[in-house]
Amino acid sequence: MALKRGALTLLKKIYGKERIKTSREDRICYAYDAVNTKYIPDAVVFPLSAEDISQTLALAHSLGFPVVPRGSGTGTTGGSVAVEGGVVLVTTRMNRILDLDTDNLTVEVEPGVITGDLHKAVEAKGLFYPPDPSSSGISTLGGNVAECAGGPRAVKYGVTRDYVLGVEAVLATGEIIRAGVKTAKGVVGYDLTRLLVGSEGTLGVLTRIWLKLLPLPAATATLKVSFRSMEEAAVAVARIIASGTLPRCVEYLDEAAITCAQSIADLDLPLGCRAILLIEVDGSDSEVIVSLESVMKIVEEAGAILVEKARNDIEAKHLWTVRKKVSPALYLFGPDKINEDIVVPRSQIPAMVKKIELLKKEFGLPMVSFGHAGDGNIHFNVMIDKSDPVQKMRADAVIHELFDYTLALGGTLSGEHGVGITKRPYIGKEIGEKELELMRGIKALFDPKGILNPGKIF
Ligand SMILES: Cc1cc2nc3c(=O)[nH]c(=O)nc-3n(C[C@H](O)[C@H](O)[C@H](O)COP(=O)(O)OP(=O)(O)OC[C@H]3O[C@@H](n4cnc5c(N)ncnc54)[C@H](O)[C@@H]3O)c2cc1C
Repeated sequence: MALKRGALTLLKKIYGKERIKTSREDRICYAYDAVNTKYIPDAVVFPLSAEDISQTLALAHSLGFPVVPRGSGTGTTGGSVAVEGGVVLVTTRMNRILDLDTDNLTVEVEPGVITGDLHKAVEAKGLFYPPDPSSSGISTLGGNVAECAGGPRAVKYGVTRDYVLGVEAVLATGEIIRAGVKTAKGVVGYDLTRLLVGSEGTLGVLTRIWLKLLPLPAATATLKVSFRSMEEAAVAVARIIASGTLPRCVEYLDEAAITCAQSIADLDLPLGCRAILLIEVDGSDSEVIVSLESVMKIVEEAGAILVEKARNDIEAKHLWTVRKKVSPALYLFGPDKINEDIVVPRSQIPAMVKKIELLKKEFGLPMVSFGHAGDGNIHFNVMIDKSDPVQKMRADAVIHELFDYTLALGGTLSGEHGVGITKRPYIGKEIGEKELELMRGIKALFDPKGILNPGKIF
């Protein structure tokens, strides 16, 4: 279903010379996301408005070519790549914060706003937008909503879905719809907003987003805690969650993740450190003191060998370095790595940690895990060279076993990265046939000709 002859001429009428790229060099830049696959689109366009997108989709609907929405391309499941060719539609030039309403604690944005830019803008007004995927310096809010992004603070504040009040979207036919509300509440009709959140660009292109904000917490405190083993760290996480103290972040790194981070950064770690927790608490000054005392007691009882507490923002940033270096190091050493983001009930983290150790022994492949332990979300990586078919076969077997065990523990196959193309073969493990049939029916209703981000999810 590649771009039909004549379609390019019509697209050039919408986008002029400046906002359409057709050279091979330019198209290659949009052939990837954070997964090491390559699908070169036929053209790349840069809309400035919902009307540009509406005209593009109306054309695609009538001529029958695929359109793939894309923000910054940081997705980790191949969601924004043109697996069937066609046009990649990049929203990064639609990047205005349209209305920051400090009276009603809401904000209206275009989809191409960078998540970190929204954080800065609302924090300057004493407000808080909690979702903070670790990619927030580059990811867009459109991509966050389309993936229902999470991030370290989800443990206390929830995920993107919990902050989306309403959206404007362009359907595959080119029609523009509005779903949801701008108010704090609203229950009229089916919740199309929730359906669009996490729909991975397969049901509509988001062109405006109304988000809920919170007051900025008065105080935060950051701890970096080193342990001799991942088992001890996992027990500490389960005990913190069960204690009733709810930190805003509980991130973990296993020994392999620490080794990776150490290889690209000068990290001053205690001897024998094989697991790290990064814990952040927030609230009023007095709440932070109480939470810190409770967390420190738990980690010490669980066997922490060193507890480092930041005295200011600069020290807090320094403590986070080890966590921030993991992803870049992994991409450096294992561009072919298989990356999963399973979630298990938090009380089952120790069981999953044991299982990962067993998988390492059974399959003999390098495996690295880290992630958002506070909400049971484990980023699990198998480091392979995909050109070696034996390694690839063994890695696939690891993933099957990991997924089966995750589901047996009452977990889910993806906490925040979505299905895209990489998890497509496994979706039937978690979702029943009837439920899949309903989902396919919804897709057909929104996109009868299957032109919007084809080949994803199903
Ligand atoms: C180093 C690193 C760290 C990360 N950390 C986290 C993390 O902590 N938590 C987390 O949840 N994710 C994380 N991610 C994954 C990724 O950053 C998120 O999924 C993010 O939301 C993607 O945003 P994007 O703008 O890059 O979207 P893209 O990758 O461009 O697109 C992602 C999906 O959204 C769709 N899409 C994009 N824009 C629109 C739109 N306007 N309308 C409809 N559909 C659209 C695309 O079609 C695609 O399916 C991380 C990725 C990297 C590389």
